[in-house]
Amino acid sequence: MSAPWQKDGYEAVIGLEIHVQLATNSKMFCSCANQFGDEPNTNVCMVCLAHPGAMPVANSEAIRQATRVGVALGCRIPETSEFSRKQYFYPDSPKAYQISQYDQPLCAEGLFRVPGEGGFDVRLTRAHLEEDAAKMIHAGGEGGRISGSAGSIVDFNRVGTPLLEIVSEPDIRSPEDARRFLTLLRATVVAIGASECDMEKGSLRADANVSIRPIGSSEYGTKTELKNMNSFRFLERGIEAELERQLEVVLGGGTVQQETLHFDPVAGTLSSLRSKEQAHDYRYFPEPDLLPVHQTEAGLIELGSDLPELPAARFDRLVAAGLTEPTALALAVDAGLAGYLDAVATATGDLKTSANWTMGEFSAHLNGAGLSADQSPVTPERLAALIALVVDGTINQTAAKEVFGVLVEDAQATAAGVVADRNLAQVGGDDALGEIIDAVLAAHPEEVEAFKGGREQVIGFLVGQCMKQSGGRADAKALQGLLRARLNG
Ligand code: ADP
Ligand code: ZN
Ligand code: MG
Repeated sequence: MSAPWQKDGYEAVIGLEIHVQLATNSKMFCSCANQFGDEPNTNVCMVCLAHPGAMPVANSEAIRQATRVGVALGCRIPETSEFSRKQYFYPDSPKAYQISQYDQPLCAEGLFRVPGEGGFDVRLTRAHLEEDAAKMIHAGGEGGRISGSAGSIVDFNRVGTPLLEIVSEPDIRSPEDARRFLTLLRATVVAIGASECDMEKGSLRADANVSIRPIGSSEYGTKTELKNMNSFRFLERGIEAELERQLEVVLGGGTVQQETLHFDPVAGTLSSLRSKEQAHDYRYFPEPDLLPVHQTEAGLIELGSDLPELPAARFDRLVAAGLTEPTALALAVDAGLAGYLDAVATATGDLKTSANWTMGEFSAHLNGAGLSADQSPVTPERLAALIALVVDGTINQTAAKEVFGVLVEDAQATAAGVVADRNLAQVGGDDALGEIIDAVLAAHPEEVEAFKGGREQVIGFLVGQCMKQSGGRADAKALQGLLRARLNG
């Protein structure tokens, strides 16, 4: 793992509870559209509004997607799981209970590996299916929060949409590792297409459970739960702030109280939402209106073989192929860019050079234009043709960058065509380079003297002059060698 968070004899203990909104067409137990941004209270029916007698039917696509996530996260998938009622009263839940899963979740214990230098494993406790609550809008309150608001309105479009709750064991030891873990987990869920996992839009939500304990202790301290972390940066900063707060309490002779906290990312402060003195009693019991879910071994095998390459495996493959860890990681968590690279590398047969271009010029172009890899006019085939001209020595790096710029601007242009039109082919022959060198040395006798007198670094200046003379087209390596030979000869 990255350096663990340790201060004044205490260490951090962190576990995450992650909610993923599954990208199914319909809701978890009815056929209403699972869709956001619509006119409030239009995607509703008797089932999700809990009219008496309306019967739920489990969405098989949600079960399939949730099972795929479980397999991808290394969970055990029990043969049987069941739905349970979790009972509570709040206006966001018209049934006054939530259909969730309790002691027989869809996905049981798993192990998730965060690869790379300082990599680590996080045990997963479980992953279970449930339905989301309605969206409450607290009108007139500060920042949409309930305190100080004049009243609340409810949009039931979200009620009953499928959620997968993934619970980790408290195996994380620093705020940075919490971010790393969530980044890779998110990329894994996105890679298999189960959710878009957009933290800002709320399709991925993470609560962090945080405690500290004396370094070396095998017992856990009292934990607090942090809500409202809607970005990776806030997750990291919120945990950091809470660890500091707990440390101050403990060093001051106090004890940490179990409570739920809200992190205000702007102020960087934490405020108490509720204290959990009395443990909730949700009176779970098996949902009588739904059958248990059965998984067959054959079904699981088929589902497992249908998964795409997962980020951790992609990371391993790219590192083994010679890419640096940061490059491999950036590609591991970006399926679009990784797919693009694979297509370029297949065409060029040179993964490293292809990765340099994909992560360098190509990524800069995407960022600048606000495009995703598949939206760029520079298709893998067009970039591969350009890279081929660099690899076979037809053009140098400077010219290649110029060509790339033209490929971006003109979707009809080909790399070879641009090289011909602009006369960018590299000047590489000894005769041609020799002429340029002669001219430059004749024009700079003082620098030549200086070099002979031992000031070797002037060679940089002379190379620059030759390059300029060639219109930027000189083969830099050949030029260096020839120039050195000439000066020493
Ligand atoms: P609760 O009873 O509050 O639901 P659980 O034991 O079910 O608590 O754990 C909920 C989450 O809190 C899990 O992600 C778990 O890893 C984490 N957790 C449990 N104990 C601690 C602790 N002492 N410090 C930090 N995280 C913890
Ligand atoms: Zn409905
Ligand atoms: Mg719990």
